[in-house]
Amino acid sequence: MNKGLLSVDAALELLLSGARPVADIEEVPALEATGRVLARPQRSTMDVPPMDNSAMDGYAVRLADLKGISRLKVAQKIMAGSVGKELAAGTAARIFTGAPIPAGADAVVMQEDCVSEKEEVLIKKNPVPGQWIRRTGSDVRNGGEILPAGKRLLPQDTGLAASVGIKTLPVFRRVRLGLFFTGDELVMPGDPLPPGRIYNSNRFTLRGLAALFGCELRDYGIVPDSLEATRRVLRRAAAECDLIVASGGVSVGDADFVKPAVEAEGSLLMWKIAMKPGRPLAFGKVGNAAFIGLPGNPVSSFVTFLVFVRPFLLKIQGNSNVEARSINARADFDWTEPDARREFLRVKWNAQGGLDLYPTQDSAVLTSTAWADGLVDNPARQAIRKGERVRFLPYSELYR
Ligand code: AMP
Ligand code: MG
Repeated sequence: MNKGLLSVDAALELLLSGARPVADIEEVPALEATGRVLARPQRSTMDVPPMDNSAMDGYAVRLADLKGISRLKVAQKIMAGSVGKELAAGTAARIFTGAPIPAGADAVVMQEDCVSEKEEVLIKKNPVPGQWIRRTGSDVRNGGEILPAGKRLLPQDTGLAASVGIKTLPVFRRVRLGLFFTGDELVMPGDPLPPGRIYNSNRFTLRGLAALFGCELRDYGIVPDSLEATRRVLRRAAAECDLIVASGGVSVGDADFVKPAVEAEGSLLMWKIAMKPGRPLAFGKVGNAAFIGLPGNPVSSFVTFLVFVRPFLLKIQGNSNVEARSINARADFDWTEPDARREFLRVKWNAQGGLDLYPTQDSAVLTSTAWADGLVDNPARQAIRKGERVRFLPYSELYR
C-alpha cells in the first residue's frame, strides 16, 4: 500500500456508503421507460401465452386419428387472432403460427410434413404429443415476477412488461446531475484558441457520459479559477442538483479552488487515490447535493468518472447492481514496468480475441481512450506477460 494514498476499493466503499438513492417515483408509459430504473418489482396478472397456440404453420390433429400415413378431412381454418371450434374425430384444422389450438387437438404437424389435397390433408410424419404447441403460461406464469426493482430497463424489458398488458411502469425520477469545468485555460471549440489555452474536452466527455447514464443534466460550463466563482456555481448547483461533478481544480496548487470552495459551502473529504491515471479525488456535500471533484486531466477525469462517479450515480439512481462486470481476457502485450498504484490501462480487442495495449499510457494522451475498447484493471506492481489473463473492463460493460 502506498503511504498516504487511499485504495480504490476503500474510496469506493466510502463513496457508496454516502450515496442516497433518490426516493421519488414516477409512473411513465412503458413505451418510454427504456433506460429508466424500475422502482417496484413487476408481476404478471396473466399467463403468457394466454392460450395454447401453434408454433408453426401446419395442421392441428388428434393423435388418436393417426396411424401410418393418414388422410384427414380439413374441417376448419384457424388464423392467429381467431378462435376455432372443437376438433371433431377424424378431422384436422389448418392452423397458423400464433393461432389458438382447438379443443381436442393434441399436436400440430408442420406444413412441410403434410401434403394438402383439396379438402383433405395427408400427414406424412406423425407428431409426438404436444408437438409444436406453445403451452399456456410457458413464457410467463400468472402471478410470477417478470422484472425486479432496481433494474435499468432495457428495450426487451419494456416488451416483456407489455406482453403481460402493463401500460405504465413505476421508475425512479431521473438524477439531476450538475457539471462544471474549472480552469482559466479552457476555451470552447468554435472560439479562437489564444496562446497558452486549451479546449474544454472534458465538457464533451463528461456530458456524453451523463447522457449515457440517463441523467437530467445541468451544465454550468466553464468556471474561472477563483474562490468566489467556484462558491457561486456550487451554491447554484446545490439548489438544482442531486449530484455535482466538477472537473479540475482539485489539486492543491495556487489555482485550485475546489477544496476551499466546497469547504466554505459544505463539507469535503480530499483523497489521494492509489490509482493511475487519476490521483486527487474530492468527495463532499453542498446543501443536499453530493459533490465529486475529478482531476482535470482528460484521461484521469474519464477514468475516475467510470471508476467512481459511475457506481455512485447508479446507486443514487436506484440501481440494485452498481458493479461493472469484467471479462477475464488474454493480454497480447507485455507490461514490464507496473506502477506502485493500481492501473487502468487503455486496451483494444484484436482479431485474435486478445487485448492490445495503446503504446503510450501517459495520462495526458486522450487518444488512448478513443482508440481503446476498454480498460485493463491491473493490480499495483503487477507485471503482465504476453498471454496472461487480465481483468478487462470493456466500455460496453462500463457504459451500463
Ligand atoms: P487541474 O486538475 O485543474 O490541475 O488540471 C489538470 C490538467 O488537466 C491541466 O493540464 C489542465 O489544463 C487540464 N484540464 C483541466 N480541465 C480540463 C478540461 N475541462 N478539458 C481539458 N483539459 C483540462
Ligand atoms: Mg486547473
